[in-house]
Amino acid sequence: MPNELFIGGKWLPSTSGNRIDVFDPSMEKLIATVPDATLEDAAAALDAAHAAAASWAATPPRKRSDILRRAYELMLRDAEAIAVLISRENGKALADARGEVAYAAEFFRWYAEEAVRINGEISVAPSGQARTLVQYQPIGIALLITPWNFPAAMATRKIGPALAAGCTCVLKPATETPLTAFLIAQLLAEAGVPDGVVNVLTTSTAGKLTNAMLDDPRVRKLSFTGSTEVGRVLLRKAADSIVHCSMELGGNAPFVVFEDADLDAAVDGAMIAKMRNGGEACTAANRLYVHRNVIGEFSARLAQRMSALVVGDGAHATTQCGPLVNRASLNKVAALVDDAREKGARVLTGGARLDRAGYFYAPTVLADVPANAALLCEEIFGPVAPIVAFDREDEAVRLANDTEYGLVAYVYTRDLARGLRVSERIESGMIALNRGLVSDPAAPFGGVKQSGLGREGAHHGLLEFMEAKYISTNW
Ligand code: NAP
Repeated sequence: MPNELFIGGKWLPSTSGNRIDVFDPSMEKLIATVPDATLEDAAAALDAAHAAAASWAATPPRKRSDILRRAYELMLRDAEAIAVLISRENGKALADARGEVAYAAEFFRWYAEEAVRINGEISVAPSGQARTLVQYQPIGIALLITPWNFPAAMATRKIGPALAAGCTCVLKPATETPLTAFLIAQLLAEAGVPDGVVNVLTTSTAGKLTNAMLDDPRVRKLSFTGSTEVGRVLLRKAADSIVHCSMELGGNAPFVVFEDADLDAAVDGAMIAKMRNGGEACTAANRLYVHRNVIGEFSARLAQRMSALVVGDGAHATTQCGPLVNRASLNKVAALVDDAREKGARVLTGGARLDRAGYFYAPTVLADVPANAALLCEEIFGPVAPIVAFDREDEAVRLANDTEYGLVAYVYTRDLARGLRVSERIESGMIALNRGLVSDPAAPFGGVKQSGLGREGAHHGLLEFMEAKYISTNW
């Protein structure tokens, strides 16, 4: 398994020789060390990306497509090994990790297909005096920064479109989960990605390295997935050089269950929306609003399902819910539950850390959660489902919109007109209507309000790595 910096097609130690520890959150054990990149390493990665840029941009789309297709096939070939690695360094249950590998690989397949569908436009100017030609060109060197919660998918969701568009890139994975990023870089090299097109840097000083790279005028694109807090810092920094930004940030998803909902489907959907990745997903249902007439039955059934989950070492075959990623996350989840309980919430199941090694918190359902509980406005990022009652449709919409975030919302109703009406009124980039999942590489993923800027996936994701060039001419 590679665990050195990947620069210009070579595996290199950091120029400082310093290394960063990587832990298994299920056991709290050291599993690897990775290089702590310096400013010189970052400059070398940009030099490599720059050296490869012109020839990669000029590589025929069909060839770029074939390489991405091959990367997809290699990810499937090695799917089990990648899943085990994700589970080891992130802690998520193996079933979730397998799901992530399939999802991650799909971005390479989708963008292999998109690479040969980069169309332009031609029109006659309204004055009739000129023809307008619009051509899409690669935006330039892209800096890609990814979080730890989907170590494979967040990387391929950026690398796939960047490479399809003809951009070279530097990937900075999260410090908790660097090993998956290195493995993907190795597969990309095997698939035929030329040296320097994809470079990977791990660092303990993300801000310092990123600032230096954003100061380099060769970097033209920043694609970030992570917290709103860090996204805001990066947007300010990117303003200095007017770097084009895509931001996939935090969420606070409402999960709305109307009185007429199919409760079996709603409970199944809530389990997926809440517990995929043990709740560590930007799309995780963070606040469950349930109509007063069905809240008792819904809450009891959800609590029963949550309490039956097998919690344990992520890499064990029978585990359904792994640990949180680190101690800080565990402490945050515990503090949010304590706060809600002190303010009057009732614990239907869970509500405590597990007494064992690893960062485990019991799957938890909270009822009667008061409006001032912190977990209704903060991202929980853990296996905790707070339930709140509502009476009227307008009230459900108002509660759903009562947040600065706007990534995704879940709506359950048998009335299609109501489902579509409410979907239009909820302020979020994505709606799951009678479904517990939205993520699909062929669809535009992204948020409104403070959940982000731009979209990943679909053709939209490709255009984030391209600039429109308008040529005015006549003949
Ligand atoms: P994070 O703390 O914001 O970190 C994300 C990435 O940014 C990591 O690689 C991190 O590096 C790096 N980083 C931290 N500070 C930085 C700085 N000052 N300059 C440049 N880079 C910096 O987020 P996280 O805890 O890893 O991930 C969880 C968050 O991601 C949640 O808010 C979740 O909602 C969001 N998320 C959003 C989406 C989406 O599609 N909207 C998807 C997944 C996750 P280090 O690891 O070295 O600190």
